[in-house]
Amino acid sequence: MSELLVLIDHSDGAPKKLSLQMLSAAAGLADDADVSVSAVWLGAGASDAAATIGAHGATKLYHWDSEDAHGYVTLPQVEGLQAAIDASGADVVFFASTNHVKDVASRLAIRVGGGVITDVTGLRVEDGRFVATKEVFGGDMITTSRVADGHVQILGIANNAFPAEGAGGDAPELVALDVDLSEAATAAKVVSVEKQVSADRPDIAEAAVVVAGGRGLGNEDGFQLMEQLADVLGAGVGASRAATDAGWYPHRYQIGQTGRTISPTLYLGSGISGAIQHRAGMQTSQNIVAINKDPEAPIFQIADFGIVGDLYEIVPKLVEELETRKG
Ligand SMILES: Cc1cc2nc3c(=O)[nH]c(=O)nc-3n(C[C@H](O)[C@H](O)[C@H](O)COP(=O)(O)OP(=O)(O)OC[C@H]3O[C@@H](n4cnc5c(N)ncnc54)[C@H](O)[C@@H]3O)c2cc1C
Repeated sequence: MSELLVLIDHSDGAPKKLSLQMLSAAAGLADDADVSVSAVWLGAGASDAAATIGAHGATKLYHWDSEDAHGYVTLPQVEGLQAAIDASGADVVFFASTNHVKDVASRLAIRVGGGVITDVTGLRVEDGRFVATKEVFGGDMITTSRVADGHVQILGIANNAFPAEGAGGDAPELVALDVDLSEAATAAKVVSVEKQVSADRPDIAEAAVVVAGGRGLGNEDGFQLMEQLADVLGAGVGASRAATDAGWYPHRYQIGQTGRTISPTLYLGSGISGAIQHRAGMQTSQNIVAINKDPEAPIFQIADFGIVGDLYEIVPKLVEELETRKG
């Protein structure tokens, strides 16, 4: 039986939620595809995470515990993953469809003769090959595609597209990878890493709830209101590009085509028009709530719940009501 590899995206020694979602999706389709699920862990900490990875369906865990596998430089990760493909003979790789890992996946594809499909939100198996669905053009269309026969299927899975269900499996067999890095992969060295401290709020790519603000806030003080709302909801705070370009909120919180892609259970946008480039980063949110004073704002076309009005009247009342309910 051939193997399906899931590249585990991890931080602080623990698999990220999306990695568990990918493992569950792989385990759910393993019988149809006639594959066994194996995980790949690049960097330190594989053995500590093995039980969690096994519980989500992987029977084997390839790991490369090297200083070079820290994940801040792309090429060592490409070569680590390539070593896992060589060791396993796998024909399918699932990866987290984030900007960084997309970079790894595209370089890998060139080396192994693979085809990449990113931002996958749905999967099925036909004739032993994976068929993927994804939203394009800001969610206006859904495409269905598959990697051509004879090429390694490299599939980037979108956040929150699949549930992270533990199948309850045993700890996987640990297999150490032998990675012989090329000269190019060792050319760049990380000198220091400084973690961005963002109060106690969750990262927007992982948060179940994201509160986002746009140009309609009028100035940077408006983000204090967004943060108040976020804190009462336990949410992360994001922004449109108009707001980050204006310097009202750091660029790392920008949502959209040239920013972060999020897919929370609840997205709550205030003073955001819903330009196609913004929608590209949040349209797969499960519930979209928009506050905008313009009833014609495009964001209302994709909102599940829309409030037409001045955000400075609505949001403070919302914060007050939520605080009262919280007690
Ligand atoms: C190549 C390219 C890439 C891009 N990438 C991104 C990206 O990644 N992310 C992104 O967000 N944008 C991106 N953009 C920019 C995008 O096209 C829009 O310009 C941007 O999203 C607009 O931000 P906004 O909705 O905050 O501002 P606006 O479009 O100006 O909308 C502000 C909204 O606030 C409302 N409003 C004003 N005052 C209030 C009030 N008091 N109460 C309630 N509502 C109010 C208005 O009615 C309006 O709808 C990109 C553009 C290009 C060309």
